[in-house]
Amino acid sequence: MTIDIKTHKTADDVIIELSNDLSETMSLPNIKPLLSQRVIFECENIKYINSEAVQLWAHWLSKLDERIQIVFRKTPPRVVDYFNIIDGFLPTSATVESFFVPYECEKCEHVELYLAQRGKDYIDSSAGEAVQINLPKIINCPGCQGAMELGIWKEKYLKFLIVKSGSGVTT
Ligand SMILES: [Zn+2]
Repeated sequence: MTIDIKTHKTADDVIIELSNDLSETMSLPNIKPLLSQRVIFECENIKYINSEAVQLWAHWLSKLDERIQIVFRKTPPRVVDYFNIIDGFLPTSATVESFFVPYECEKCEHVELYLAQRGKDYIDSSAGEAVQINLPKIINCPGCQGAMELGIWKEKYLKFLIVKSGSGVTT
């Protein structure tokens, strides 16, 4: 599959849509957002990303004016893993608006990605308070109607939220 990066601009935002396989050949657009614009990454269709692409992405982010608001939207598990293992990839000032969490069915082994949304499934910390995590304990399996449970180790997968807050987690 090829790398596919599309950029749309509105008065308020620069939206960068990333799709398919992101590798060392990816090239992010050469843009100069206004300070009033947010830079939004639409991540839902990223199928694969390697660490070289993450390094390029992190470097690109580091060159933006730090006053610009950065938003990650519909981030898939593979990118969340890199938030957790690559220091500085997720800028401390950035907002993760939504991200996918895998749930697993014990009966039929189906894996479903649940979209966790900021303000509903998790509440960012403010003024030194802990992050609140309100993820559903179980969801219904679309295959067998069985109960699906979290397919992640919370402390590890949600580390990026906790590190950003610097003050622990409430579940
Ligand atoms: Zn099932």
